[in-house]
Amino acid sequence: MRIEEDIKLDFKDVLIRPKRSTLASRSEVDIRREYVFKWSGSKFHGTPIIAANMDGVGTITMAKAFAKHGEGLTAALTKHYSVDELAAFFKTPQSASAWYSLGTTKHDQDKLKAVLKKTDKQRLTRLCIDVANGYSEAFATYVKQTREMFPKMTIMAGNVVTHEMTEELILSGADVVKVGIGPGSVCTTRKMTGVGYPQLSAIIECADAAHGLGGLVCADGGCTVPGDLAKAFGAGADFVMLGGMLAGHDQSECEITQQNGQKFVTFYGMSSETAMTKHSGGVAKYRASEGKTVRVKYRGDVLTSLQDILGGIRSACTYVGARKLKELSKRTTFVRVTQQINNVFGES
Ligand code: 5GP
Repeated sequence: MRIEEDIKLDFKDVLIRPKRSTLASRSEVDIRREYVFKWSGSKFHGTPIIAANMDGVGTITMAKAFAKHGEGLTAALTKHYSVDELAAFFKTPQSASAWYSLGTTKHDQDKLKAVLKKTDKQRLTRLCIDVANGYSEAFATYVKQTREMFPKMTIMAGNVVTHEMTEELILSGADVVKVGIGPGSVCTTRKMTGVGYPQLSAIIECADAAHGLGGLVCADGGCTVPGDLAKAFGAGADFVMLGGMLAGHDQSECEITQQNGQKFVTFYGMSSETAMTKHSGGVAKYRASEGKTVRVKYRGDVLTSLQDILGGIRSACTYVGARKLKELSKRTTFVRVTQQINNVFGES
C-alpha cells in the first residue's frame, strides 16, 4: 500500500484568478476550436462540447438541435438506437454533429458493421468507444484493432484518469481520450468501489500526457454549472462532455411527468438498475449497479440552456483576457479555495 500525499483537486476546490485584459466584451470571444486529429487526420471546427452518450442526453434529437444551432457542438449518440435508426440518421447532413458510440462486445462490433453497411460511410466518421473502466489491457488492444480496421475514423476512447493510460490509449490509436472515473451526476462508482480521481487534477494530468503525444482529451463528467466547463477548459481539456447539465430538455426523447404543477423528467446512469433493466433485461448477477436514477426538472429547449453555458464560458474568457477559447488554459491560474458560492438565498 502507498499513499500519494499531494492533494488532488476537483472543480469545487478552485476558482480562476482574473487577469488584466484588453477585451471589452464577451461578444469578442471565439469559443470555437480547430483541431486536426492525430490518427484520422480529420478536422474539427466547432464548439468542443459533447452531449454524453446517455439516455435523455445523447439523442438523435439532441444532435439535430446542435446541427440547427450552428455553433458546432456534437452529441455522442446512445448505444441503444436500432441499426435502422442509426443508418437513417447517418445518411443525413446533420450527422456531422454526432459520434457513434460503442462498447467492446462482439454485439457492438457486429452492430457497427451492420450500420456501416446500410448507411453513407462518408458521414459516419467519429466513434466513441466507451467502457466504465479503461484500465484493462484488453481495452487498449480493442482500441488498436479498431484503429487498424478503420484508419480514417476519428476515435475517442475511455474512460481513464491518469497519464500512463492516456498515453497507452493514444499510442493504441485513440485521437481523443475520455477522462473521468466517478465524477458523474448519476454515477455511484466512488460509493460502490471506492475508486476514482478528483476530476480537475485528472484533466490536468491526462491533458498534459495527451498533448505531449499530439493527442487530445475530453473531460467527461462532474460539470454542474457553466463555471465548471470554464475550469475544465482552463485545466487543458480539449473537449468537455456533459450529461446531467443537458438532461431534462425537449430534446431528451423521454416522457415528461407532472406533479403539483411541476414538470419532471427521469434521468439515470447508464450502469444504473434502470438502464440495465431497460436495455439488458436486468442487472447481471456478478455486478452491482454503479449508477443512480433521479428526477430532474424539465427545462424546455436545450438551446436556452446552451445560451447560459456558452455565455458563461465566453465571460470566463473575458475575465482572463482570452480572445479565443484556445488561449484560456494558457491564461488560467487556479486559486485554491475553501468556499465558492454564497448560498444565503438557497442554492440556485
Ligand atoms: P455528468 O455530466 O452527468 O456529471 O457526467 C456524465 C458522465 O457520467 C457520462 O458521460 C459517463 O461517463 C458517466 N456515467 C453515465 N452513467 C453512468 C453510470 O451509470 N455509472 C457511472 N459510473 N458513470 C456514468
